[in-house]
Amino acid sequence: MKTEVHAYHVHPRQESVETDPKFMTPSEIKAFKPHPWVELKDMPHAVARSRTRMEVAGVWAPNQILGRRYSIGCVALEITQRCNLDCTLCYLSEHSESVKDIPMEEIFRRIDQIKLQFGASNDIQITGGDPTLRKRSELMEIVRYIRKIGMRPTLMTNGIAATRDMCEELVKNGLNDIAFHVDLTQERKGYKTEMELNKFRKDYIERVRGLPIAVIFNTTVFKENFHEIPDLIRFFKANTDVVGMASFQLQADTGRGVLKKRDEVISLETVSEKIQEGAGIPISFDTARIGHPKCHKYGLTLEANGKLFDFFDDPTLFNMLIEKTRTLELDRTNKVKLAKNVINWLGQNPDFLFPAFKFAFRKLMEMKWDILKARRVGKLSFFIQNFMDASSLELDRIHACSFMVMTPQGPISMCMHNAKRDDYILQPIKLKSEQVWQPLTGKTEGCCSSEEKKDC
Ligand code: SF4
Repeated sequence: MKTEVHAYHVHPRQESVETDPKFMTPSEIKAFKPHPWVELKDMPHAVARSRTRMEVAGVWAPNQILGRRYSIGCVALEITQRCNLDCTLCYLSEHSESVKDIPMEEIFRRIDQIKLQFGASNDIQITGGDPTLRKRSELMEIVRYIRKIGMRPTLMTNGIAATRDMCEELVKNGLNDIAFHVDLTQERKGYKTEMELNKFRKDYIERVRGLPIAVIFNTTVFKENFHEIPDLIRFFKANTDVVGMASFQLQADTGRGVLKKRDEVISLETVSEKIQEGAGIPISFDTARIGHPKCHKYGLTLEANGKLFDFFDDPTLFNMLIEKTRTLELDRTNKVKLAKNVINWLGQNPDFLFPAFKFAFRKLMEMKWDILKARRVGKLSFFIQNFMDASSLELDRIHACSFMVMTPQGPISMCMHNAKRDDYILQPIKLKSEQVWQPLTGKTEGCCSSEEKKDC
């Protein structure tokens, strides 16, 4: 069993009788370490390291995006543990509210490390708690810095404090995407159905309408809203002029949430069926593989005249595409640049022209009347995230993880982080000044200046 791959460490299993062998034991979870800190010389190997992770986890395949085009799906950067909601499926811990916001120096240290670990042009999710509760000037500085070093900042928020004015300022500072979390687990007073919560979704859509950012809506799926997924899809379908992605997180028993184990009706398969019911078409959710197939499903559709059209219905072409376009930059927020890059690339890869045009022509014929009627084409993608319960972590999925959180020691799978969050958020942090920041007081202790050093 290979144990050391570049800077990535593969954890061997420990035998145990207590837990289901499929799941990691409490002592294995306790012992599990983040991926070690890397240096600048390691950055060029980011995609290769991810390929090794996929191979070790046994999920490398012709349709695997990680380790080919991308090194990671995204990395969460938690800039506060505070929140202005207390969702029934919250992944924060009971200690989160009492933890002060980590120092900006530490945030920049983590951002720099994310780039070294995964390479440039990757998504950094600015999250928490709710990041809009961080001091506004600091939030803007964080967005600006992420953009400045060539990464893509995404804001994850429940939208309550994300005013139009704040969204405009965030965009000015380089924000790429905004993901609004709206669903019944938030227990917003007086709202009993997801359809009633469309009032907030419409409000948030108007807050960002016309801004050059990608807009995502996140929905946690649990027993109470599972049946409303088709109506939700119809709502997003009617708003593709602003909304580009609908993301669904399946209930997981982790963190301080009061709702524990998910209902058996909820799975990657059943949620993808509900999405297709709302979409009114079959969607190719198995064409693209992002990390471990038990972790996600991803589908992409085009929208015209209120109808959706499956975009990933040619898996052979898809596999050829991701293999051949490893280095082609696709900037979602700049459609003109994206189109230019694709046309240039086609010019340099003539053998690809025929399959590409055949595909485009087929799509055009499928959509022609709807495009003529609507005079525009929208895009709506669907992402389903199958988080693991804290007590049911599967090591191969952790190894193939595409969604990591940055800790003081390095990146770690979101599922693993949530299972032992206090191990990271309650850690004192050593600063450049050798002083130590204390999470529960927010105070910085220990002597730092040469003046003080003399007195120690
Ligand atoms: S966060 Fe969990 S469910 Fe998501 S990719 Fe990582 S291991 Fe899989």
